[in-house]
Amino acid sequence: MEIKDKKPVRRSMVFYAVIVLVVLMILNMFVLPSLSERSVVETTYDELLDALDAHEVGEVELNSDYIYYTVKNGDREIICKTGRIFDINEVSRLYESGAKFQEVVPETMSPLTSLLVGYVVPLALFIGLGYFLSRRLQKSMMGGGGGAMAFGKSNAKVYVKSATGIKFSDVAGEDEAKELLTEIVDYLHNPQKYREIGATMPKGALLVGPPGTGKTLLAKAVAGEAEVPFFSISGSEFVEMFVGTGAAKVRDLFKQANEKAPCIVFIDEIDTIGKKRDGSFSGNDEREQTLNQLLTEMDGFEGSKGVVILAATNRPDSLDPALLRPGRFDRRIPVELPDLKGREEILKVHAKKIKLADNVNFYEIAKAASGASGAELANIVNEAALRAVRDGRRFATQADMEESIEVVIAGYQKKSRVLSEKEKLIVSYHEIGHALVAAMQTNSAPVHKITIIPRTSGALGYTMQVEDGEHFLMNKEELENKIATLTGGRAAEELIFHSITTGASNDIEQATKIARSMITRFGMNEDFDMVAMENVGNQYLGGDASLSCSFETQTEIDRKVVELVKKEHEKAYKILEDNIGKLHELAKFLYENETITGEEFMKILLHKPEQIEG
Ligand code: ADP
Ligand code: MG
Ligand code: ZN
Repeated sequence: MEIKDKKPVRRSMVFYAVIVLVVLMILNMFVLPSLSERSVVETTYDELLDALDAHEVGEVELNSDYIYYTVKNGDREIICKTGRIFDINEVSRLYESGAKFQEVVPETMSPLTSLLVGYVVPLALFIGLGYFLSRRLQKSMMGGGGGAMAFGKSNAKVYVKSATGIKFSDVAGEDEAKELLTEIVDYLHNPQKYREIGATMPKGALLVGPPGTGKTLLAKAVAGEAEVPFFSISGSEFVEMFVGTGAAKVRDLFKQANEKAPCIVFIDEIDTIGKKRDGSFSGNDEREQTLNQLLTEMDGFEGSKGVVILAATNRPDSLDPALLRPGRFDRRIPVELPDLKGREEILKVHAKKIKLADNVNFYEIAKAASGASGAELANIVNEAALRAVRDGRRFATQADMEESIEVVIAGYQKKSRVLSEKEKLIVSYHEIGHALVAAMQTNSAPVHKITIIPRTSGALGYTMQVEDGEHFLMNKEELENKIATLTGGRAAEELIFHSITTGASNDIEQATKIARSMITRFGMNEDFDMVAMENVGNQYLGGDASLSCSFETQTEIDRKVVELVKKEHEKAYKILEDNIGKLHELAKFLYENETITGEEFMKILLHKPEQIEG
């Protein structure tokens, strides 16, 4: 880098010297002469004659147009100038006055010099200027063919040597990913150990996982731990306007990495350049060239040199298979959404940055923030701190944390949007409907908190379902119960008001999704056995599923979905009907208080046990 920078510096010095020279010449030609003129007093010819008669004139210089003369004025001499008049007595007058006088012949330039000054010098200047300007333009626009030209000064920022100081301890949870990366760090520290056995490190490791799970953070932590140069570039930076730039950048990146080995090269969001080359019409030539260059470079250097390439993406399925074959990104490091324990640890890591009350229970918060990513959890902690400031407190409390979960997950509380009393009543019954159905089915999760304060996300009421512990497997009964719980809101409206509202749209969507998945993907329908009727596109971006079955089967699936949801809906209705006393009691509490916690809910529910349905 340093060596490369010297040339442009020297060149620009010459450039500025030329500019200074030109400015000086202009000054010389126009400004300076007029400056010296200023001290000359213009007089009329008769004034000169008077001065001559008075013997006040010192020296006189005559040229073809003017007479310059000095006049004594006390101690000082004033230079005067007057136009020359044809005067036959001129010489005798001057002689009589006793002044010293002489005729000055203007210096004429030789024809060669005048040619030089008039034509050659300006021409040379123009050519020189043009040359430097065009060189600069070329450098900044084209990126040029060779590696040396590829990085103008403006692009130097692309390679940032890690000054982040982030360590593995800053990344909470993600133990598996950390373990895999630790090996890479260890290799960079003492490659000898690995070489002795004959093991070569994988050249590249690909961090894959949903957005906000800490992929970029992990890569930075690797650099921080390994204490080696860290080249970081985002995939989108490769793809620029000028054709050929991306490929040149890749070449230069690897050239520099090779010089600085051992080092880490981190390509964030690699899917921007690493997309499958599908040869479609709209094919982006530039991107393809860049990808090809990347593939070539990755093959080009030996793994033993100690250049480790990390890349991150949340769309591993869209990557070109060539990138994933052994010898390139052959190691995949999954970075998944944190589990309960992971969430608690992430909260603790971020809570260190803010002032918190002593009695904050991270476990409870982690439990309530089920499904939140690392980035969301960091946001929750920050929201809590902001809330504390807003309320003029010195530290954040448990309540702040709980509130900010809802803020981050369900959108800000919208105080301005008030529900009418009738709406509030409907929403109360709707939400209690969900909660009661959930509580009455033995396998459903207990309710953590229900609130009927409207939020900007559009959800009217908001029931937080909290699972007791994590589970990765759900059985058929649990899924069915979940559908029943989702239909519980609408069922309560029907039961109490004998009318239905739009408030259940989200419930309907979710219930349908679960029912459909059960039938098409989880093999939970007797007729279809273990046949997949649907393929999920991208599991990390919650991708859309595409049906892979005949039209007849599709029709049947639709029918079965409706059947299943209907069955659960009826079950929910029955549960509420059987517990209508509790439904009224709970809805009344929620209507009056606007929120009800899990404990309050259970207290009312278990107060005087009526008949409890299974
Ligand atoms: P991505 O996976 O999309 O690259 P980032 O690494 O950019 O996600 O994470 C965004 C932010 O979320 C980080 O800067 C960090 O504050 C927070 N974060 C995410 N995961 C974790 C984690 N496991 N531990 C601590 N903080 C995390
Ligand atoms: Mg990222
Ligand atoms: Zn609902």
